[in-house]
Amino acid sequence: MNGTCIVVGASHAAAQLAPLLRQEGWTGRIVVIGEEAHLPYHRPPLSKAYLLGEKHADDLLIRTADAYARLGIEFRLGERVASIDRAAKTVTLAGGERLAWDKLALCTGARVRTVDWPGARLPGVHTLRGIGDIDGIRARVRAGGRAVIVGGGYIGLETAAALRTLGMHVTVLESAPRVLARVSAPQVSAFFERVHREEGVEIRAGVAVCGFTGDGGDVKRVICDDASLDADLVIVGIGVVPNVELAAAAGLAIGDGVRVDECARTSDADIVAAGDCAMHPSPWYGQVRLESVPNATEQARSAAAALCGKEKPYRTLPWFWSDQYDVKLQTAGLNAGYDEIVMRGEADSGRRFSAFYLKDGRLVAADCVNRPQDFMASKRLVAERIDAPREALADQDFDLKMLFRTAPVLGTT
Ligand code: NAP
Repeated sequence: MNGTCIVVGASHAAAQLAPLLRQEGWTGRIVVIGEEAHLPYHRPPLSKAYLLGEKHADDLLIRTADAYARLGIEFRLGERVASIDRAAKTVTLAGGERLAWDKLALCTGARVRTVDWPGARLPGVHTLRGIGDIDGIRARVRAGGRAVIVGGGYIGLETAAALRTLGMHVTVLESAPRVLARVSAPQVSAFFERVHREEGVEIRAGVAVCGFTGDGGDVKRVICDDASLDADLVIVGIGVVPNVELAAAAGLAIGDGVRVDECARTSDADIVAAGDCAMHPSPWYGQVRLESVPNATEQARSAAAALCGKEKPYRTLPWFWSDQYDVKLQTAGLNAGYDEIVMRGEADSGRRFSAFYLKDGRLVAADCVNRPQDFMASKRLVAERIDAPREALADQDFDLKMLFRTAPVLGTT
């Protein structure tokens, strides 16, 4: 394949897609345009090892500049694409420059949800998505200082664990009645609340934050509907919004993300989209938009193939992970619509259990805490729709791999 392929967004998806384009036979130019000054980097360590100071910015790079150069992949970093002209097949950069493309890949990711509460712009109030955010946060970390985290999702809890490890007093304020409510069962939320309390983090759920006040300079207090708290550092981690505006303005089909088919093609055959910004059909869960690294890398495979005229449908079961203290949570599948939970091990004592989510008696997802073998088995049980009896799931001495051989496979619809 010849011509120019432009990749918009220097994200996880882009770091996978651009080299795979070469593997799939793209011989023309590949230009990746990214708003941040950095080559694509691993984001998961940001709220963990990078915040803890265990990794440096260079350690986070997905590939080195040399590796991209060897593949003839060009970067335009610190540049923002302002618009896409599908008829003329060009993109226009914020500075006015126009670049022509034959194929276009949208890897625009997602941005943090922000708040417009009073004091939200005070120094010391941060969000967390990129390297620059952590550099700003780290400058305010001080053992014995007070950190308040707004949002008890993955970002909030992982950041709480890291800041606690760094010796800060940490409070997490969650608006829902429990942490991780978007993604987990009450038993799993209760487990994480207990672990954080055991580590010395204060968790308050069902709290409405109204704003922040300072002492003429930096943030000093977080104001809630029923109380206020001292704070030297505030992190707002209340979710993300997909970056779909460029695609929408170009007239591409949009749902809860840029709509793509199972080969990552948008409603324009010459444009693909992959990663947090894309909404795709899942063989298991209908139309989904996933916010995860495995999704970005897997969908990028399909996108690179599609740009080279090949069909490589994206059919990988969604999976996620989170590291907090000595706890590794691994999630297989999506639990949306589950009507039953089966627990394996004790979630209300210790730090090792699995929670299996069933819908109409069938396993649809699993949260596995420090039980990697349950996670590996669950991925296959869910993906292949293998019957998993409740007694087998509940018995922590039963090796779930046994079900691969013994269980009848249920229908595929
Ligand atoms: P998230 O998982 O959506 O969690 C945000 C949390 O903040 C939710 O529990 C939400 O509750 C709560 N919230 C919303 N508005 C609030 C408010 N006004 N006050 C207090 N709490 C509020 O998003 P995130 O933790 O910010 O993470 C951002 C993205 O990074 C997500 O896509 C996440 O999946 C990804 N990420 C993934 C990992 C991982 O896979 N390990 C790690 C880090 C980040 P409601 O649900 O009730 O709105």
